[in-house]
Amino acid sequence: MLQAFRYLAPRTRAELLRLLAERGPAAKLLAGGTDLLVNIRNGLASPEYLINVKMVEGFSGISWSDREGLIIRPAVTINEVLESERVRSDFPLLAVCAHDLASHQIRNRATVIGNVVNASPCSDMAPALLCLDAKAVIASAGGEREVSFRDFFTGVKRTVLRGDEILDRIVVPPSAAETRGSYRKLKRINGHDLGIVGVALARRDGVVRLGISSAAPTPVFVGDLKESEPPDAVVAAALRAIKPISDVRCTKEYREFMVGVFVRRLLAEVK
Ligand SMILES: Cc1cc2nc3c(=O)[nH]c(=O)nc-3n(C[C@H](O)[C@H](O)[C@H](O)COP(=O)(O)OP(=O)(O)OC[C@H]3O[C@@H](n4cnc5c(N)ncnc54)[C@H](O)[C@@H]3O)c2cc1C
Repeated sequence: MLQAFRYLAPRTRAELLRLLAERGPAAKLLAGGTDLLVNIRNGLASPEYLINVKMVEGFSGISWSDREGLIIRPAVTINEVLESERVRSDFPLLAVCAHDLASHQIRNRATVIGNVVNASPCSDMAPALLCLDAKAVIASAGGEREVSFRDFFTGVKRTVLRGDEILDRIVVPPSAAETRGSYRKLKRINGHDLGIVGVALARRDGVVRLGISSAAPTPVFVGDLKESEPPDAVVAAALRAIKPISDVRCTKEYREFMVGVFVRRLLAEVK
């Protein structure tokens, strides 16, 4: 059963920041609700207030700035990323990862920002954002700060965000537009499912980078490795970086084995 909460729907960013400053510890931001409402229903979260981010003016849409790059705002859904011309042409790795996240129906509600703030080790968007040098721009009533996604995740379902802060936008720099990459996700079934293990591989400017999900308490970044490194060395670097566990979905050893398989396949595929 859902416990009672008060629903707030600010229309401006200033109003939302004021609400967060006043009620931060007792409030949760609501985007698509595909993680949060499940957690409330299961008794894992019990906020007094839910503050909807999807009605705030200026929080919708993916935009582009020659100086900053690709900008993803709080109401942008996974399907919007998948369907964006700019993403598909310049940041295809983001679209490949988005395509592997859940079902079409979930992707229509779920946001990119909700996915990274939820900070599950099996986040499908984190591997691409790690490989593409993306940063989180975090806002509160006191101002803004920027954090690279390499420093954003601090543990299972934990991030650097404080209770009075919002992840205001994700910025992917223009330099990442030259990146070639792809993603492999192991699941228990052929349909949509959470990953047992996921590996994104990106190549740019003579270096190889990896973003790995479901293989440590947080999504893992491995880089920058020289393109001339033999596959064995790239696999060894990946295995040094991860800390997989055995759980109901598979064993630690199988996760390690599949990271190696995916790294080798992606090295051959992404040229
Ligand atoms: C059936 C099902 C299948 C799924 N499959 C996958 C999958 O294959 N891969 C995968 O990665 N995930 C999967 N998920 C998880 C989920 O869909 C994603 O994590 C989703 O992207 C979360 O986004 P949301 O907008 O629904 O976030 P919400 O549930 O609204 O919020 C998630 C968290 O982020 C916080 N939050 C939201 N917006 C902001 C903001 N702007 N600033 C600060 N905090 C914010 C919320 O307070 C909450 O703590 C699945 C979920 C379901 C129900």
